[in-house]
Amino acid sequence: MNTKEIRRAARIILVGAPGVGKGTQAERLMKRYPQLSAISSGDLLRESVRKRTQLGLEVESTMKAGSLVPDDMILKLILGELQSKRWVSYQSSITGAFLAEPSKSPDASFILDGFPRTAIQATKLDSLIPINLVVSIITPVNIILSRIASRWVHAPSGRVYNTGFNAPKVEGKDDITGEPLTKRADDDEATWKQRLKKFDETSEPLLEHYERQGVLWTVQGNSSDEITPKLFQEFEARFT
Ligand code: ADP
Repeated sequence: MNTKEIRRAARIILVGAPGVGKGTQAERLMKRYPQLSAISSGDLLRESVRKRTQLGLEVESTMKAGSLVPDDMILKLILGELQSKRWVSYQSSITGAFLAEPSKSPDASFILDGFPRTAIQATKLDSLIPINLVVSIITPVNIILSRIASRWVHAPSGRVYNTGFNAPKVEGKDDITGEPLTKRADDDEATWKQRLKKFDETSEPLLEHYERQGVLWTVQGNSSDEITPKLFQEFEARFT
């Protein structure tokens, strides 16, 4: 497939229940548009846990329980990532806390998966980079639940597989590196239900926030394969 042009910068957020396939859609968009890059807050947090960083040690039990990491911690993590990718510029500060300057001419195209998740996080992000498309992905919860059991991940990259409909080429192995696939620590049914509860509590104010800005777009489907063509079509209409 030819590399496709992006006419104007795409600054996209994916919102959806845990296991709805946000990571899968992000991967597919990046494959089709190699100019796009993505930040997944869940992947960043899991990497911190794996590497046993200070933040990782602090958030591990919260994540295992399916609760949300405190806003200040996630904001610091994401801000650091946005700065290291130069999507926002640095402003020197003694604390290094949340002082970053809004990007003056944001021309990077990117996808944020899993962040922002609360209206507070969204408001903070607004002051740094204006988002121009929020994709709300909707799939019936009984369908998501049945998929979670067959979800496997390549932890170092965050690549996601499903033995039902998106199986790895070799069973139990990552397609790119051949390394072993594992289960996510929070992918058991009870924890998933807790994550869903948190999503239900926080997503309404979050989506309303973006609805008011006129950037919300909703897509429904029973599978990632059903959703992807609709997402590509919408992306093309807006950005290519
Ligand atoms: P999912 O969307 O499938 O629940 P993620 O990989 O996006 O999974 O997130 C996994 C966990 O990481 C969440 O349950 C939560 O504990 C934490 N987390 C991720 N992103 C955020 C965020 N923006 N705010 C607070 N906690 C977060």
